[in-house]
Amino acid sequence: MGIDVLEAKISIKDAQKPEKMKTEADWRYRQNASQFARLGYDIAGSLSAEMLARATEDDAVVHAVTGSVRCLEAKISGRIGFVVSVAGSVGLTCQSCGAEFEMPVNSRSVIHVAQDAAQLASWEDEAFECVEANEKTSALELVEDELLLSIPYVPRCQKCDAADAPRTHEFS
Ligand SMILES: [Zn+2]
Repeated sequence: MGIDVLEAKISIKDAQKPEKMKTEADWRYRQNASQFARLGYDIAGSLSAEMLARATEDDAVVHAVTGSVRCLEAKISGRIGFVVSVAGSVGLTCQSCGAEFEMPVNSRSVIHVAQDAAQLASWEDEAFECVEANEKTSALELVEDELLLSIPYVPRCQKCDAADAPRTHEFS
């Protein structure tokens, strides 16, 4: 309880200084998911390979990646939430021929915030992404998750991908 009150105070302080440069500590700051959905929340910037350590575990090389987490400015069907985006390029190694190749990344997800477990359960069958309000996470984790979703489980270069997909028409 005491920690929650302290976090609320820190959040208000941050919200009053939107011009402040976001630091690595801001990206790593873990807080309730509901805090990312509060009006005015906005963090954006470039992220280093060191910060994205989880994404580089499987030999992926992060060159230039920018990310952002922003509150939803308007509710969607009455639901609050936030938008996570990641863009840039990642160096991967083809699992078929061993060639290194660059894969552009440009991904964006809307994540809705459920007030409690009951609301989250009521959304279970819906197609949108959701999280419970009191689940702790950081802006960095959110962006990193978005990046990990963009990286194929078995990376393959364009050449191998085309060679092994006979049912796909090649237009180039
Ligand atoms: Zn290949």
